[in-house]
Amino acid sequence: MADKNYKLNTKLIHAGVHPDPTTGAIMTPIYQTSTYVQSGPGDHKGYEYARTQNPTRTVLQDALAAIENAKYGLCFGSGMAATDAVLKLLVPGDEVIVSNDLYGGTYRVMTKVFAHYGIKFHFIGMHDAHNISRHINNRTKMVWIETPTNPLLNVIDIAASAEICKKHNLTLVCDNTFASPYLQTPMDLGADIVLHSATKYLGGHSDVVHGALVMNDKALEEKLRFIQNSCGAVPGPHDCWLVLRGIKTLHVRMQRHCENGEAIAHYLRSHPKVGKVIWTGFEDHPNHDVAKKQMRGFGGMISFTLKNDSLDEAVAVLKKTKLFALAESLGGVESLIGHPATMTHASIPRESRVANGLVDSLIRLSVGIEDVDDLIEDLKQAIG
Ligand SMILES: *Cc1c(COP(=O)(O)O)cnc(C)c1O
Repeated sequence: MADKNYKLNTKLIHAGVHPDPTTGAIMTPIYQTSTYVQSGPGDHKGYEYARTQNPTRTVLQDALAAIENAKYGLCFGSGMAATDAVLKLLVPGDEVIVSNDLYGGTYRVMTKVFAHYGIKFHFIGMHDAHNISRHINNRTKMVWIETPTNPLLNVIDIAASAEICKKHNLTLVCDNTFASPYLQTPMDLGADIVLHSATKYLGGHSDVVHGALVMNDKALEEKLRFIQNSCGAVPGPHDCWLVLRGIKTLHVRMQRHCENGEAIAHYLRSHPKVGKVIWTGFEDHPNHDVAKKQMRGFGGMISFTLKNDSLDEAVAVLKKTKLFALAESLGGVESLIGHPATMTHASIPRESRVANGLVDSLIRLSVGIEDVDDLIEDLKQAIG
């Protein structure tokens, strides 16, 4: 398939996929094998050992590259394993500029693992991407952004960040987990590496933990593929198959996530007990213009506070929802509700948490694809 010429909705279903050569099976089989028989030493069909290559994984890697408008894809056992592989491009003494509002696990691996290997991370506000320039020195090697962020849904200008990185010869890494390629393709805006926790929207069914990277530069792909094989944090073929299956409906799911998200954001805004509602689609979102420029829709992630900003009030709401399940993670077909202050962001001291807007009553929704009337009814009875 000439992947490049098709539109995203077609690529999601066909990119990378070929009928199985032995049977013609339309869906890629799960090649559950650890090794491959050779006709003579070194005489093989491109597959030697399953840590290095697996046909189910190859198809998924090609599909992911195609849907992110990149040349190469690499799969990992989790989003964090993909993050780990990217950070292993660095050597002691290197410095990284990172957006200060980011996934807790990314912050943790940077500060608690890689900092011990002599790599320095600067966490900075990137509401204005030009802020990045002020923190560049001759040891800076990489800029790491996540947009929109979790749970405050801040938006970072990818094209402006890329321009700064090009000028200073820095690698721009963009975590595209929240938007998914349906809403945003950072490679088109100049990112060097796009990272995914495919556990979320790409997998989409809350049944797999998986990570991925895509890139265009051959030398960068070779380095990352070397790390993938040397360190071995690869996914099994069954997990690859689940993600491959998941991405076939990404466009249909995301369209509904966006519709439901919009309706719920507006409903919450009209609720007398609700304080602030954060959703990238609102015109008064602080970086709505950037969101409108670089995203094709606003998704189903919403955060909101209660007018009575107390932990107890928030907990009461969390306990009362019936459809919205209280759980970490996001991006699945089921609606989830979470409380960052006591769940995902509990390790951040209260003072700095509140200073950043992550107040006690902040509730995060991952709006699923159920009937929106039922979802609104559920929130109505829970908030009271
Ligand atoms: C979940 C998540 C990760 C980590 O991915 P895992 O698959 O859980 O290892 C990284 N970045 C973002 C934005 C995430 O939401």
